[in-house]
Amino acid sequence: MLCAHLLCFSGMFLLISRRLPGNRMGMDFFAVGNLLLASAYILQLIEGGHAWSVMSVVNHTLTLAAPIVYWLGAMRFFGRQVRLWRPLIVFCVAYAIVQLLVQWNAGSAARYAMLAAMATLLFFVMALTVIYGVRTFAKDLYGEMVFFALLIGGICVLNALKFMKIVDGGLDALNMDSRFQMIFYIYMSTLATILPPSIVWLVLRRLTDNLRDMAARDPMTDLLNRRGLLEALQRYFKARNAAPAYLLLMDVDHFKLINDTHGHQAGDEVICHVADLLRATVRRGDLTGRIGGEEFVAICLEADAEGVMNLAERLRASVESHAIKDAASGHLLRCTVTIGISPHFHGADGLEDALRQADAALYRGKSAGRNRIESADVFDRIPAEISLPPELHRRPRPG
Ligand code: GH3
Ligand code: MG
Ligand code: MG
Repeated sequence: MLCAHLLCFSGMFLLISRRLPGNRMGMDFFAVGNLLLASAYILQLIEGGHAWSVMSVVNHTLTLAAPIVYWLGAMRFFGRQVRLWRPLIVFCVAYAIVQLLVQWNAGSAARYAMLAAMATLLFFVMALTVIYGVRTFAKDLYGEMVFFALLIGGICVLNALKFMKIVDGGLDALNMDSRFQMIFYIYMSTLATILPPSIVWLVLRRLTDNLRDMAARDPMTDLLNRRGLLEALQRYFKARNAAPAYLLLMDVDHFKLINDTHGHQAGDEVICHVADLLRATVRRGDLTGRIGGEEFVAICLEADAEGVMNLAERLRASVESHAIKDAASGHLLRCTVTIGISPHFHGADGLEDALRQADAALYRGKSAGRNRIESADVFDRIPAEISLPPELHRRPRPG
């Protein structure tokens, strides 16, 4: 049953891998890992007792090769460009030769002890890598990584115990009727059952996370879009003592002219260039987004009015001082931006109103000559639906 389970998942991994672009999230490697593990179990069944035979050498080699291939697959899953066949073949040939040497020089018990020792070492390094991953490359998969670390830690301990038993009692320690061997095989079989669906879950989780991320970002600049900004604000304001936020709305001046003079492609390059400057200028933790053609947003979290004004000025000056070389013509393109600042606001519900008020301030900046910063004034703070007396009419938007 276990072999059938592993082979079914091997086929499933292969099918899934064909639907995935690039490094296929390591699914093709996991398919091979499952195949090797299933083959090791089949050989184990055929082989029977613990004696010297070519089948036993192959079985030991596959038993170690399978976790190595899973490990390589995991590296692919986390974006490392590792190869499969060459390291796998080198390992199999080398380990088979070492086994033959150990068998001839020290006998079967030493060969079995070597398998347990190698497995202990391998799983120990794997468990350490997973623990390291929780803090670095796999932060987003915290629960899953802890789960894997525990499972791998369990095999590591069992193999260490097995090694000590063989050293103490020779091959008799591997009697299948012994309590230890029962526990060992039940644990390994449970693991081989749990592992394949866990891998499917990891891939599913990555894909859905990627989808959610794509829906929240602007593909051209990779800045957040309106939906991404709203979601990030909702997360931020969930904290009970979250400080109020300020919103900066930044619009490139006379951008249409850049498009008309240098072409749409150059316009796109300017958009990406301004996005890079925005990302580089805001503080860590602030939110950055693109909500229209050449309209950008920075949301300052944990900031005061003075800090926000300083940031706006740094942004304005940065765009003004950095020219961009048009890849097609080689011309140096320069542009400026006008920035409108909203009053501070609490809660994600305040986003739309903050945008409206920053927009009103921005357009005042445009009509006052562009390349400048304007803050929302008292009239902008009055919600749109409230009608004002005639003498307090709202300023019309220019253009
Ligand atoms: P102002 O100083 O008043 O902001 O003038 P403007 O020319 O920047 O303003 P306007 O809103 O009239 O022009 C924006 C232009 O941006 C119009 C549109 O064709 C262009 N645009 C919108 N999205 C994109 C895009 O993704 N790429 C490029 N190259 N142009 C875009
Ligand atoms: Mg503009
Ligand atoms: Mg605009």
